[in-house]
Amino acid sequence: MDIKPIVAGNWKMHKSGEEGVSFVGKIKNRILDKVEAKVIFCPPFTSLFSIVKALNGTDFSVGAQNAHFEVEGAYTGEISVGMLKSAGVQYVILGHSERRHIFGETDVWINKKIHAVLNAELVPIFCIGETLDDRKSNQTTLVLENQINLGLQGMESIDPVKMIIAYEPVWAIGTGETASLDQVAEAHAYVQSVLERMFGQVGYKVPILYGGSVNENNAMELIQAKGVDGFLIGGASIKEESFCSIVEQVSKFYKR
Ligand code: PEP
Repeated sequence: MDIKPIVAGNWKMHKSGEEGVSFVGKIKNRILDKVEAKVIFCPPFTSLFSIVKALNGTDFSVGAQNAHFEVEGAYTGEISVGMLKSAGVQYVILGHSERRHIFGETDVWINKKIHAVLNAELVPIFCIGETLDDRKSNQTTLVLENQINLGLQGMESIDPVKMIIAYEPVWAIGTGETASLDQVAEAHAYVQSVLERMFGQVGYKVPILYGGSVNENNAMELIQAKGVDGFLIGGASIKEESFCSIVEQVSKFYKR
């Protein structure tokens, strides 16, 4: 199976509704005809409806940056998966390191969220990654394996078109420091091997994105690293020039 390169932009807490619509409008005009990558915009909750509308009729998709696992109830400030689905969202970022480290999300919660997202037939973009301390103490593979095992606990099978993994070393997120090609290829190969062990051969086909200070200058090199099926991008995804350039550069690199 060839995997179309995937470029997902995590806008984090940036851009108002108007700014978001104007931004995707410009991107659409610039790259719509040239895009061979799967492009997913992940704006803040308040922009989801308007961005879905602005992208109607295009191949671009929209993702949310989080979701709660309960269907409804007294959960002040939370958004359910059903609400996201009714807004036209197709993807949900889960387990992002900022959710884990700033908001204290545990593997148990992430696991519940993954099940909720899958039950609603949306696609999780499940983030995993080691801290600098983990890497320095040679714990990287152990950490990745634990995050995958706990995050995907209770899943008997996996469908590679309904799951995306994002390998994001915490020390590379928003720091300007990218993992080396060897580090990326090694981590992606390890993640593939864990998925294969858990789910058999089909596990190997789950797309694995790299995330961590990807920009227009390093994208071409990183997309060619073995096992990299695309990117999850933070900072560079909210800049028109950078994002268009990355999408254009990676468009032709179908993997596997
Ligand atoms: C991210 O937030 O998922 C990310 C990879 O951020 P950045 O590209 O800014 O490192």
